[in-house]
Amino acid sequence: MKLVTFSIDPSAEAAPRVGVVDADAGEVRDVTELLPPGAGVLELIGDWAAWESVLAERTPKLVPQPLDSVRLRAPLTPRRNIFCVGKNYREHVAEFGRSGYDQPDRSEALPEYPVVFSKATTSVTGPVDDILAHPGVTAELDYEAELGVIIGTGGRGISREAAFDHVWGYTVVDDVTARDLQRNHKQWLLGKSLDTHCPLGPYAVSADEIDDVTTLQVESWVNGEPRQSAPVKDLIFDIPELIATISAGITLLPGDIIATGTPAGVGIGYDPPKFMITGDVIEVAITGLGRQRNHIV
Ligand code: MG
Repeated sequence: MKLVTFSIDPSAEAAPRVGVVDADAGEVRDVTELLPPGAGVLELIGDWAAWESVLAERTPKLVPQPLDSVRLRAPLTPRRNIFCVGKNYREHVAEFGRSGYDQPDRSEALPEYPVVFSKATTSVTGPVDDILAHPGVTAELDYEAELGVIIGTGGRGISREAAFDHVWGYTVVDDVTARDLQRNHKQWLLGKSLDTHCPLGPYAVSADEIDDVTTLQVESWVNGEPRQSAPVKDLIFDIPELIATISAGITLLPGDIIATGTPAGVGIGYDPPKFMITGDVIEVAITGLGRQRNHIV
């Protein structure tokens, strides 16, 4: 099932609606009235065993509306920071090391353990919302197309073998990065967490829709120019390894998102770097999970 959060009128301050999307038909069905007041995609995921059958039965009876007639928002905002993984595709490790941004390491060596950091929830924005350039705060705005794993059943000490039992589904993440802040402050939180620097969606896609997540292609374009393209199977640390590593001592919660890392082709990978500027359009897409299209303003 593809779940969305949307607004009927993009200019309205009205409460967001929850929908189920038929992407092939280009339609969305508004399921908000089926849910408890105030409940959103996060609450559905938290009690999915109950909601999946309710939505499967009742959604088809609802009148669809054209998907392009509504404004899609981030499908969900997790309860806490988004877990992110750095340097998790070989070619990206090399370009990052060469760029000199990986101070003080400046290393093209593959990481021995997953590099885990986080993005503030206030950075989350929608799949077609504007990305703020933050002039005066950063002058080196970069993109990172990534597969986002959405946790369903939480837990601590999750084994590799049991990892996919805890995956609710997937979404598209653009781990937008202020490279100068990432470099200057050593720790990555500031450089990764500026407001609007985490476009999510368009959909939260339940795992049963994806036959083999490792075959999905992660891609990005800037102003229509292809920048990144790699399959999820190229991950250095795969999804079970990431879940086992993070949950070893931290309880994962329903609705947590793990951004699994970005392939080669980010702006700092070029010489000279190709940073995004006001007016640019960044698109990020993953097979079966939809496409984002955000303007830099
Ligand atoms: Mg990243």
